[in-house]
Amino acid sequence: MPDLIDDIRAQLATLQEQRLLRQRRTVDGPQGPLLKLDGKQYLAFCSNDYLGLANHPALIAAAHAALDTYGVGASASALISGHSSAVEELETELAAFVGMPRALHFSTGYMANMGIIPALVGAGDTVFSDRLNHACLIDGARLSGAEFRIYPHNDVARLEQLLAKNTSPRKLIATDGVFSMDGDIAPLPQLLALCEKYDAWLLVDDAHGFGVLGPQGRGSLAHFGLSSPRILYMGTLGKAAGVYGAFVAGDATLIEWLLQTARSYIFTTASPPLLAGALLATLKLLQTEDWRQQHLRQLIARLRAGLANLPWRLLPSETPVQALVVEDNQLALTLMEGLRARGIWVPAIRPPTVPKGTARLRISLSAAHSAEQIDQLINALQELSVLNY
Ligand code: PMP
Repeated sequence: MPDLIDDIRAQLATLQEQRLLRQRRTVDGPQGPLLKLDGKQYLAFCSNDYLGLANHPALIAAAHAALDTYGVGASASALISGHSSAVEELETELAAFVGMPRALHFSTGYMANMGIIPALVGAGDTVFSDRLNHACLIDGARLSGAEFRIYPHNDVARLEQLLAKNTSPRKLIATDGVFSMDGDIAPLPQLLALCEKYDAWLLVDDAHGFGVLGPQGRGSLAHFGLSSPRILYMGTLGKAAGVYGAFVAGDATLIEWLLQTARSYIFTTASPPLLAGALLATLKLLQTEDWRQQHLRQLIARLRAGLANLPWRLLPSETPVQALVVEDNQLALTLMEGLRARGIWVPAIRPPTVPKGTARLRISLSAAHSAEQIDQLINALQELSVLNY
């Protein structure tokens, strides 16, 4: 036993030497553009609360009301006695919102993908996965036992070559709708066309598109005006929706199959119903107010214009995820520190979260930011860019 601990201590020390050890910071108080981290206040560009709803009074009031009605815990898994009427209503509303026949609620996006993929494919089948897909699509595919084929990022031609020579009975193309570290949008119309041509399913993980893209934030499918029984749409509820959780929407029979067989749905305690209460308030806000998405678009354009002449590569992105690729791990950390010294928090993202040689600052914008706050970030980065690191 001590050998094992010594081994792990050495591994941790190596991570420390490589400056790859991850650090947690404590947040005091609610989420928002001004964030108190480890006791100090920063102007923050690090959250996925893209619409600024995580601390919205309507969501808080709805959570309070649901808390009074349902109590704190769900007490059992959904198939035993934990499926609250608030979650039932949420599933119905979510399905209607994204224009799909039926939806199933999961505790988190991670758990959703870990449940959906093994429920649909297994040994002998194939999952085709974009190289930049989120870890939970990769982990779900691995867990399924299906063959796992990675295609280069958004490379539809290469994917077609892989599909053309594949003879699996079931084929599933899995993609992020909006890529979490690059911010670009998947070529969903082309991917769906390939699904039709090669008789495959399309699983879209829209963690970063739900609430942001498409009319009223209905997501990346709505952004392209797509609908098909071949599509399973996974949206998460802890980012733009401001709360926590996830759902998958699609053909009613497929959703019934997931309810019956997705292990991360069946074998876990249902989420606290108060979360569903808050999420119903989110859906109401999304359908009655779309100024947040418009304001966000203006902030994105302002930031991109302000960063256009920096010596680093700002990846193409029309979403609130804006990646400034500086390539070198140490430079990414130095810039993060430089911003921090100026009271601004932007996370540096390094391998293995992103491919080697693409270390970056991941700037995430929120409708809760003001134009002045965007200018503050632009000015700080301009200042740092002439320091010749
Ligand atoms: N998919 C993507 C693309 C994500 O970025 C994330 C979260 N970072 C998830 C899924 C997981 O969602 P959750 O946080 O609800 O587990």
